[in-house]
Amino acid sequence: MDTSLPNVKESPLQESLGRGKARCLVCERRCVLGEGERGFCKTRMNIEGKIYTLVYGDLSALESRPIEIKPFYHFWPGSTALTFSTWSCNFICPWCQNWHLSKTEPEPYDARYISPERVVETALKRGDEGTCVSFNEPLMLFEYSLDVFKLAREKGLYNTYVSNGYMTLEALKMLREAGLDGLKIDVKGSREEYLRFNKAYVDVVWRNAREAKSMGIHVEIVYLVVTKATDDENTILETIERHLKELGPETPLHFTRYYPAYKYNEPPTPVEKLEWAYRQARKMGVLYPYIGNVPGHAYENTYCPECGEVLVKRYGLMIIRYRITEDKKCPVCGAEISIAGRHVSKFRFRSILGI
Ligand code: SF4
Repeated sequence: MDTSLPNVKESPLQESLGRGKARCLVCERRCVLGEGERGFCKTRMNIEGKIYTLVYGDLSALESRPIEIKPFYHFWPGSTALTFSTWSCNFICPWCQNWHLSKTEPEPYDARYISPERVVETALKRGDEGTCVSFNEPLMLFEYSLDVFKLAREKGLYNTYVSNGYMTLEALKMLREAGLDGLKIDVKGSREEYLRFNKAYVDVVWRNAREAKSMGIHVEIVYLVVTKATDDENTILETIERHLKELGPETPLHFTRYYPAYKYNEPPTPVEKLEWAYRQARKMGVLYPYIGNVPGHAYENTYCPECGEVLVKRYGLMIIRYRITEDKKCPVCGAEISIAGRHVSKFRFRSILGI
């Protein structure tokens, strides 16, 4: 492998194990790689005893997108984030909705390299309020996002990740120091579902959500209710309990509708199931539960947890009406509403690369 390629870069998170072997410390798979081997995610390779990312700045998409699509409902509402991605993933969900990116192995010699400086310049030029690493697992761009985030923060932009939350704590700390402001984590069931579908551990994900919050990062949780995979009622109740225990009642919890994709063909989640999950969460004490992927549903809105007033009326990605006061209170009863950043009044959606 040619280490002079701009997209091939030594990773700052690794451990030398001697005899040419090294361990990757970016995610909790902690792959041990011998000379010439790639990790579980295929984006990192041992080259002469050191681990290199092969996808530094190799972007598969670059788009300005509404923050609501992530979804972040309590973070810079109405703003747009310049969103970018690369290839592959450290998870193997059979229902992946972005499989055309996540199941593609990177080809370092065919990379479409875009520098961190250009990403930040583009965000500023397009009037975005922040950046977001999304579409495929953002950790695949770990080294690159550190550099983008530092530059973006200097220019007053926020930085976000839409992640499965399987990073090491070292990686999370480095991301925070570089400027990570918001983290949306997908929770994919409980212990059994993680082991069965991803050979991974749910405790890591909740640990990271909790630690991120304690570092001052804004956290929202998404639970994709996948038919015959993560839709068991006891699993959903267990997730709500864990959410409350680890993150507290004010952290938003989104139940989103699954549609068949990639290798998974069970029918879409019945809307009644999502409504049931929403009601359980509210009853158990979650202040801001939501339903996602059902445009126009009343449970897309934000209600005041004290008086029930509609505070933010949404239709899909759009905010139709925003009534939270500038000092982040309900205009009717004065209850404080948990919002990070400020409300931005605009809506744009366009692609730069057209991919
Ligand atoms: S980032 Fe990739 S190579 Fe590194 S530990 Fe995770 S799966 Fe393995």
